Amino acid sequence: MHEMSLAEGIRQIVEDAGRSQGFGKVKIVVLEIGELSSVEPESLRFCFDVVMKDSIADGAQLQIDPVPGSGWCMQCAETVPISALYDPCPKCGSYQVQATSGTEMRVKELEIE
Ligand SMILES: [Zn+2]
Repeated sequence: MHEMSLAEGIRQIVEDAGRSQGFGKVKIVVLEIGELSSVEPESLRFCFDVVMKDSIADGAQLQIDPVPGSGWCMQCAETVPISALYDPCPKCGSYQVQATSGTEMRVKELEIE
């Protein structure tokens, strides 16, 4: 499952941060998830709880901040909002839209005890 490996990646980041910054327990993990990243927040939540067992973020709360998608339309030569990858430009209907934001997922913040 896609979300399971994402959750494992998050655990890695959290534990690395814990080691380098010297904290032992994470209370809240804030994640930014792009609208275009094809990450399913509900299944990620489920995987998160499973994967974080016995880590420094065991029992931590997962907070998800959605990031709206946008892309560069070659026809309009400007940035336009899109809600899915390969969506047409909402202004001119062209499919020559290159996604520029909202395609990634990253750990934004860790709240520690
Ligand atoms: Zn356009």
